[in-house]
Amino acid sequence: MYSSDSDGLAAARVQLVTYSARLLADGLAIGSAGNMSVRAGDAVAITPSGIGYADMAPEDVCVVALDGTELDNRETPSSETPMHLAIYAATNATAVVHTHSPEVIALSAARDELPAIHYAITGLGGPVRVAPYVRFGSDKLAAAAVGALNDRSAVILRNHGAVTHGRDLAQAYDRALLLEWLARTYRMALSYGEPATLSPAELDEVTTETRRRRYGERRASPP
Ligand SMILES: [Zn+2]
Repeated sequence: MYSSDSDGLAAARVQLVTYSARLLADGLAIGSAGNMSVRAGDAVAITPSGIGYADMAPEDVCVVALDGTELDNRETPSSETPMHLAIYAATNATAVVHTHSPEVIALSAARDELPAIHYAITGLGGPVRVAPYVRFGSDKLAAAAVGALNDRSAVILRNHGAVTHGRDLAQAYDRALLLEWLARTYRMALSYGEPATLSPAELDEVTTETRRRRYGERRASPP
């Protein structure tokens, strides 16, 4: 049963405030734009609508059920709550980060996909698709984001921003930074002409090697 003082939700509130400040500092959003959430069991802690990140306190963070029912809110939950909940329903994510970061927005207006010009894109599951434009805060945007996400951990929203997810807020946030870095790197590469891209086989090779090395690290670490 839902409990407003559960340890998971209390930790999520503090984390969301901490990462909201980083969102501004890292240039992934300005003012109160963008939003983030963390799933704790059958509840989702999500940043409020219309409060500047610099002024946000843990008690301003909203809590909603997986079906969108508001549970413990003195503020209005983010306008993109439907998109966050749709991603939790469609994936095994426990954190979602939505940014209005300039490099991905610029790319979204001109391209259908962020191609693989660097192997680090395997950290997002491969080339990142651009979802068609739909008005912010709508169920149609939630559906478009989930549809373009598919087997990736990132999706770009045309003329809007980007969404990443992960097993926790740190991973989802790191993926948002990686996505912005990849978009910037791609734009720089375009200034030289049409960049070379990595093939699906080359990306698969990177993924296999990354997994092999992680497995090796686990085996080598003490119990
Ligand atoms: Zn947005």
